[in-house]
Amino acid sequence: MSQSFLSPFGFLVLAAATALGVACSDNEQPARPDVVATTSIVTALTKAVAGNEVTIGTIVGPGIDPHEYEASADDAARIGAARLVLRNGIGLDASLDKVIASSGQKVVVTVTDGIQLRRGESEDGHPEDDPHVWHNPMNAKIMVAAIVTALSSAFPDKASAFAKNAADYGAKLDTTDAEIKRLIEGVPTANRKMVTNHDAFGYFIERYGLTYVGAVIPSVSTAGEASAKELAELQVTIKREGVKAIFAESSVEPKVAREIAKDTKIAIVDDLYGDSLGKPRSGADTVDGMLLSNARKIANALK
Ligand SMILES: [Zn+2]
Repeated sequence: MSQSFLSPFGFLVLAAATALGVACSDNEQPARPDVVATTSIVTALTKAVAGNEVTIGTIVGPGIDPHEYEASADDAARIGAARLVLRNGIGLDASLDKVIASSGQKVVVTVTDGIQLRRGESEDGHPEDDPHVWHNPMNAKIMVAAIVTALSSAFPDKASAFAKNAADYGAKLDTTDAEIKRLIEGVPTANRKMVTNHDAFGYFIERYGLTYVGAVIPSVSTAGEASAKELAELQVTIKREGVKAIFAESSVEPKVAREIAKDTKIAIVDDLYGDSLGKPRSGADTVDGMLLSNARKIANALK
């Protein structure tokens, strides 16, 4: 449309539409949602299944680190008032366990149950299950199946819509998986090595035949911290293995990772989505979009 078509009235209409768009953006949370999901990942998978059938609230939103999240009084009220709470489990949203327990909420479903877990290290160096399961889209499909069951039980009259949406989204995750395989196959085999900020990409690495060389925070939790000795060893390993890049996440400030990249003269990619999805309309605000966004950045940096 050319500028000359815009009457003053047209401007008013556009302005009103923009204001409406802001009011309806995904940043806005329903005050008392039907369903509450603990993380942005569980929220997105739930939206994929629920469509517009139920309202969904999220506790730890896009760009926020769930490992160290502190719940607000409003979070507790929304958890208590919902028909159903969906959690990631495996320790990722453990900071919310007390709030959920004291909220009076009785219907709490852990959507990662039954997924085969890899082991990593806790923040104090003990073996611990890795909660970042959704970085393998086949695990995301298991989460979708758990969400269908939970939603269908809470809202039985909408079960057929949930089943159809879940089948569609499962197909989308299969397509995404194939596309990621293609991207990583374009990386020379010798370059398929990853150093990450914290140990968040183990399931992706396993699924796509990459090698995990190490992490700046050698833990599946961002609360961990490497010793000076461990960081020095990591630098030696990076040089010995010819690692091309360090991969950090958008939800954690990668100060030490930047220093190591500088000292070892390798690239740093500081905007992967590890523990959180992207903001609305970033293209990484769905699980499939986030996985592809990460895969593209990884493939580009390792070429
Ligand atoms: Zn994490």
